[in-house]
Amino acid sequence: MSTPRAFVTRTLLPEALDIIREVADVTVWPEETPPPVEELRRQAGSSDGILTTIMDRVDADLLDAAPNLRAISQLAVGLDNVDVAEATRRGIPVGYTPGVLAKSTADLAMALLLGAARRTSESERWLRGGGWQIQFHPTHWLGQDVHDACLGIVGLGQIGREIAKRARGFDMDIVYHSRTRYTDMEAEYGVRYAEFPDLLGQADFVVLSVPLTPQTHHLISGPQLALMKPSAILINVSRGPVVDPAALYEALRDGQIARAALDVTSPEPISMDDPLLTLDNLVITPHIGSAALPTRLNTMKLAARNLVAGLRGEPMEACANSEATP
Ligand code: NAP
Repeated sequence: MSTPRAFVTRTLLPEALDIIREVADVTVWPEETPPPVEELRRQAGSSDGILTTIMDRVDADLLDAAPNLRAISQLAVGLDNVDVAEATRRGIPVGYTPGVLAKSTADLAMALLLGAARRTSESERWLRGGGWQIQFHPTHWLGQDVHDACLGIVGLGQIGREIAKRARGFDMDIVYHSRTRYTDMEAEYGVRYAEFPDLLGQADFVVLSVPLTPQTHHLISGPQLALMKPSAILINVSRGPVVDPAALYEALRDGQIARAALDVTSPEPISMDDPLLTLDNLVITPHIGSAALPTRLNTMKLAARNLVAGLRGEPMEACANSEATP
């Protein structure tokens, strides 16, 4: 049998590429930006496997152009850019990277939570702008306490559970809402279940760790923001479109909620003209949830191993549609 051909849509660390090179002829898209749609179609059309990122749209059109494709490996846990059902219909396994990045993403969620609560970005901007003229003032830069506050976790999956573990260390009172109620995990993670509106009304901090699906698109919009406390802080480490950005802007501008911290935006990258960027009560990072070196390397290696397994016709370590495996 001839050596399979793999297309990798972004430069990976060499340790991960070496795993694929052991079994396949690999073409790596060399640019910083993703391959244009036509280029992705052309490359997929002559490939047996592709390794994609969240910026590559894998839909029926692409799969139509790739008759030999027998493995898709996504370098992410979120699969909102991949039409998994369409891949399944064609018998193509779709690999993804759950678990390996949950702890790093939870770490970032806590960084955002703490940063927003204690106004670290805002006060640093003020200091660098020459605002720090008086050594100490009893009423300046008052933020919110994290300890003993109520944290509402929306989506008690791998990332949500890691956030709960960390929040316990901060003596937080933790409620969660998730698609499935996990009574067994409630004691283990020190969390209690709440209906979504109740969670929004109770929580001092609301953190979103759900996948982007038709059900979670704009899960947080005007009516949900209206249920939150005026002192509440919203943290989004899931996907940008889970929050309605126009409604969030209005809620932050009008003091309907106190602050927000976003690692993900809609669209990405956020436009420099976006009104959200005019707000001081917003902390924002450029989708860096899992961007810690050891974690990213492990994620790349898992994606590489998934691709290799798919090319060999073996079960992938983490497959979103194991029913598609031959
Ligand atoms: P996961 O283990 O699948 O957890 C997702 C949780 O959300 C599950 O418990 C799921 O319920 C729940 N859920 C799904 N739909 C829901 C709904 N409509 N309402 C309430 N809960 C719902 O995934 P994960 O590894 O924690 O990752 C979650 C998401 O985070 C990913 O899909 C990705 O989009 C995002 N992410 C972002 C970054 C970043 O860099 N910021 C990094 C990694 C991941 P069930 O238990 O019933 O399935």
